[in-house]
Amino acid sequence: TIELSGFKSFAKKTTLSFEGQITSIVGPNGSGKSNMVEAIRFVLGEQSMKSLRGKSGGDLIFQGSKFLPKQNRASVSIIFDNSKKVFKLPEGSRPEINVDFDEITISREVFQDGAGRYTLNGTDVRLKDILEIVSSVNIGSSGHHIISQGEADRLLNASPEDRR
Ligand code: ATP
Ligand code: MG
Repeated sequence: TIELSGFKSFAKKTTLSFEGQITSIVGPNGSGKSNMVEAIRFVLGEQSMKSLRGKSGGDLIFQGSKFLPKQNRASVSIIFDNSKKVFKLPEGSRPEINVDFDEITISREVFQDGAGRYTLNGTDVRLKDILEIVSSVNIGSSGHHIISQGEADRLLNASPEDRR
């Protein structure tokens, strides 16, 4: 499950549940599909503002509309099923970090001044802790890949040499 609040075009709290193995999100241009993908990147610790299509943290926060006021923070949570206790702690991690729960909730917030915060099941943690914990289930820089808008086209249109 993913919960977005104040992130980009998601002014109000929005929850997406991924029940099956494949989920498709469809909608007209500008309806927020890419913003959702960026929310996943964001909560998993993305550091490149470019890949979140922003210049600074403030660009990730809902900036207000005719009907809704602007927000002062963006928050995304991702909740993983850990009933099989697949998440592992890295060696030598701090005692306040614990993954022995049936659900692992990772949250990241960013505020207007650019300050940020990561939590693991409600406990403040560092980016490094998040990266280590998700890499224990093969999520992370070499563990998963998000094929962004335009990339599938690029693969299909590439020459055989480039594709290889
Ligand atoms: P397409 O089909 O064209 O790829 P999409 O569904 O992927 O569209 P997104 O790119 O996710 O659409 O959403 C773009 C919309 O999000 C724009 O209308 C933009 O104004 C809005 N948006 C982006 N950042 C913010 C923000 N900080 N506050 C409010 N709205 C925002
Ligand atoms: Mg898009």
